[in-house]
Amino acid sequence: MAKNKARAKPKTSKQPEVVAFWETKSLEEMSRAEWESLCDGCAKCCLHKFIDDPDVDDDNELKPTDHIKEHEQMVHSSIVCHLLNDKSCQCTQYEKRTILVPDCVRLTQDNIDDVFFMPPSCTYRRLKEGRGMPSWHPLLNQGKTTKMHAAGMSVRGKVVKDNEVSLDDFEKYIVTWPLNDCD
Ligand code: SF4
Ligand code: SF4
Repeated sequence: MAKNKARAKPKTSKQPEVVAFWETKSLEEMSRAEWESLCDGCAKCCLHKFIDDPDVDDDNELKPTDHIKEHEQMVHSSIVCHLLNDKSCQCTQYEKRTILVPDCVRLTQDNIDDVFFMPPSCTYRRLKEGRGMPSWHPLLNQGKTTKMHAAGMSVRGKVVKDNEVSLDDFEKYIVTWPLNDCD
């Protein structure tokens, strides 16, 4: 008995071509969607950072700040915001994040000058400093974050949540890996 035969169109994994808008537009010129797509999703900006301020009494409580003085140095910790999904590196409350976490940093085209608060691998900082898009960025990898995680550029597998430890013990959690970057 003859079997029915059908011709099927071969499946194609062709992805829409990515237009490298980041090479032709300044950060200020980008559309909102372009700006948002630059975020690599590393979640390093969700880490708690500390500034050693000699003018602050040791007995004083930790205080949030949005500025750094010239002589001060900022250190990163491996303590991350409790709202982060530490596997996907996504915020679990993205829409409500600035209400739920008032000091959640929201980088926009209006406060781009604050980008120095971001880690060196942050795409916004890289572009602002003229260092270009890294090869592991999701925009160059069909939207996938696999290369970024494999390159160690995200917080995955390296963090503790801020509702599981005391921030007063932050010195135990000071780390330098958030400063790593690679092309
Ligand atoms: S550090 Fe920069 S690129 Fe990474 S998640 Fe934060 S804003 Fe996005
Ligand atoms: S609220 Fe969300 S985006 Fe903001 S620091 Fe926390 S996890 Fe990160």
